[in-house]
Amino acid sequence: QNTRYLESQAARESNARSYPRRIPIAIAEAEGIYVKDMDGKNYIDCLAGAGTLALGHNHPVVLEAIRELLDQKRPLHTLDLTTPVKEQFVEELFASLPPEFARQAKIQFCGPTGGDAVEAAIKLVKTATGRRSIFSFQGGYHGSTHATMSLSGTLGQKERVQGLIPDVHFMPYPYAYRCPFGVGGEQTHALSSRYIENLLDDPESGIVTPCAFILEIVQGEGGSIPAPVEWIREIRRITKERNIPLIIDEVQTGLGRTGKLFAFEHADIIPDVLILSKAIGGSLPLSVVIYNEALDVWNPGAHIGTFRGNQMAMAAGLATLKYIKEYYIPDHAAARGEQFMNRLNILKQQISCIGDVRGRGLMIGVEIVDDRQSVDHLGHYPAHKKLAARIQQECLKRGLILEVGGRHSAVIRFLPPLIVTERQIDDIFLIFNEAVHAAYA
Ligand code: PMP
Repeated sequence: QNTRYLESQAARESNARSYPRRIPIAIAEAEGIYVKDMDGKNYIDCLAGAGTLALGHNHPVVLEAIRELLDQKRPLHTLDLTTPVKEQFVEELFASLPPEFARQAKIQFCGPTGGDAVEAAIKLVKTATGRRSIFSFQGGYHGSTHATMSLSGTLGQKERVQGLIPDVHFMPYPYAYRCPFGVGGEQTHALSSRYIENLLDDPESGIVTPCAFILEIVQGEGGSIPAPVEWIREIRRITKERNIPLIIDEVQTGLGRTGKLFAFEHADIIPDVLILSKAIGGSLPLSVVIYNEALDVWNPGAHIGTFRGNQMAMAAGLATLKYIKEYYIPDHAAARGEQFMNRLNILKQQISCIGDVRGRGLMIGVEIVDDRQSVDHLGHYPAHKKLAARIQQECLKRGLILEVGGRHSAVIRFLPPLIVTERQIDDIFLIFNEAVHAAYA
């Protein structure tokens, strides 16, 4: 059964299809953290729509919200005309933001993808500041559209597209394990912020004041790399002092994944612009930009698009957000993340192909290294892409779906639904442990 579906997919879909190459299954059913393929085999889903499924597949509150919308004969599509569902969604979202942000915030509904919200954010800050260059970060990921690809660090796909947007300057992200300054450890984040501050202040640096900084609090696609809170606070200070808007891309981190409702709350800062997508639509397509109203210089229609705010996604997103708050899901995600990281750190002591274990909440990465090669100047082995791919396949065989990403495609990424239980974390660890040993043998 699986094979038949995969063959017809390969025959019809473009060569750009990505996940099915590494996860060659056709999915028949899904519930909670589990999916079942067409041959009846069950899997634990630690990809969860690349972090979209905060409450897992088909959560009862999400299904109920969708049913209710249909039963009440609410419209499914209204462009950006308002509706009771939209009003409730906005009210709940604003009530969930830190009050000092919510008090002076505006929201812009964007197209169905995170990438469209990033596009909107960039246009907004360019319009508001009249500047054109932007600071982004090494290893960052912001989407696959023309402009968002330009802002992303991942070179693999970029190199083949000529003429991306100019004036993007890539700054060093505090990736301590492979420190961009070649010293490593504790100093990475301080070196990064000092370097950036110097670049802005040195009249001979060749860099003009940018329209914004855009960053992830935990880099997702870049390999589940959490930025230390000290660094985030420093970046906030540096940008604030120079009147540079700070855009926080929480497409992946938002809504509890990192152990706080919004990841910027770890550092007690307030962004100027916040980008949300993935979980905010409760598994349906939605994205928004929330920003300080001082930046609201847009003309009517400055960012439009037919599918700005899908009613069903707002209903599902509203139900998801309420559930996350009512059941303290961010705290739960923090506890389950800690449980899993503890197990992984013990495994790291036992097996030398695990170079680094890192993450925040349920956004966890395990960097796989080649311990048969020689170490670099930081004392770390090189990344081992092939072994990471083998581990992924061994996991899949044993019924665990997960993604591999990061700088050298050597980071095993865990993004389980946030409702994962203590027992289920143990199950995930047991499979992973077996798979690593099988792949490394
Ligand atoms: N920003 C971040 C941080 C992301 O992780 C992603 C998607 N992985 C995007 C933006 C782009 O979102 P989308 O794929 O919905 O365009």
